[in-house]
Amino acid sequence: METEIERNVKEKSKVLVVGGTGYLGRRLVGASLAAGYPTFVLHRPEIGVDIEKVQLLLSFKQQGARLVEGSFSDHRSLVAAVRQVDVVICAISGVHIRSHHILLQLKLVHAIKEAGNIKRFLPSEFGTDPARMAHALAPGRVTFDDKMVVRKAIEEANIPFTYVSANCFMGYIVGGLCQPGKIIPSRESVSLLGDGNVKAIYVDEDDIATYTIKTINDRRTLNNTLYIRPPENILSQREVIKAWEELIGKELKQTNISKEDFLNIIREQVYEQQVGLGHYYHVFYEGCLTNFEIGDLGEEASNLYPEVAYTRVKDYLKSYL
Ligand code: NDP
Repeated sequence: METEIERNVKEKSKVLVVGGTGYLGRRLVGASLAAGYPTFVLHRPEIGVDIEKVQLLLSFKQQGARLVEGSFSDHRSLVAAVRQVDVVICAISGVHIRSHHILLQLKLVHAIKEAGNIKRFLPSEFGTDPARMAHALAPGRVTFDDKMVVRKAIEEANIPFTYVSANCFMGYIVGGLCQPGKIIPSRESVSLLGDGNVKAIYVDEDDIATYTIKTINDRRTLNNTLYIRPPENILSQREVIKAWEELIGKELKQTNISKEDFLNIIREQVYEQQVGLGHYYHVFYEGCLTNFEIGDLGEEASNLYPEVAYTRVKDYLKSYL
């Protein structure tokens, strides 16, 4: 019986990862190589003397990836890079501590349109489904608005696509027990967002990459959205805290932040903080990740790919012990 990796190698879809040195991007490169795809990584000359990025790119090369030079400020170089592959996955940064470059993808869309050979494009999404966030708070809504601008350009150019809605990255959210500004779980106390009972969805970043790579040759995800909702990781903040308390054998001191207080806190912050906190508001006060059925909107990852042994929240938390 042919294995999945052998099948991928035979089909020879070549994959280009743009933003491969990023937090999610480096995992996408690893997952693409692990699945047996010839994997290309865009090397932008602009990274200059950033030794960490260069070392990371070289480590991809050692693992079998090919580095392709190309710049967002050089259309011809982007077209040339895209022409070498069949699938493009973009993971450039969204709005958070690092920066905000989602709209730069319009340049990539133009290059893909001109190249005309791409069988699948996965833009940098990997969060809350932006199509469901038309009501989002300013200024955090910029993330969703910009991702929708990119979607519109993709669809107008008739580029075959898959959108990946990955919900909450575990590293950012579970590590801090769902508290903004925290990425390591306290052994003493925790602030509950509202009553702490709103369900959210947490996905290990390596699992996001694994599921994403599985979509690229799958007809079921063509021009469709993949929602990653691992059933055992659909938990409220209280349930995440309980999992941690069981691991450390101790109850944390709890306080609550009411919805009104949280909205007031948001207003007092600088722009980047407001953006990030706005996302927490929609996830943990409004329940935007779980307040709808997927139905005809797309496919669910753990349904499509039950063979993926996804990481459970409790197991993820063990790494902090
Ligand atoms: P990063 O901030 O780690 O950045 C990824 C890449 O962006 C970098 O490696 C870099 O590519 C590229 N980049 C930065 N500046 C530029 C530029 N000027 N021109 C071209 N490329 C640039 O991204 P993340 O991994 O944090 O985010 C990826 C996606 O995941 C985003 O869509 C984001 O919204 C989403 N996300 C979702 C979260 C969730 O909880 N659901 C949490 C965090 C992110 P290069 O290698 O070429 O330098």
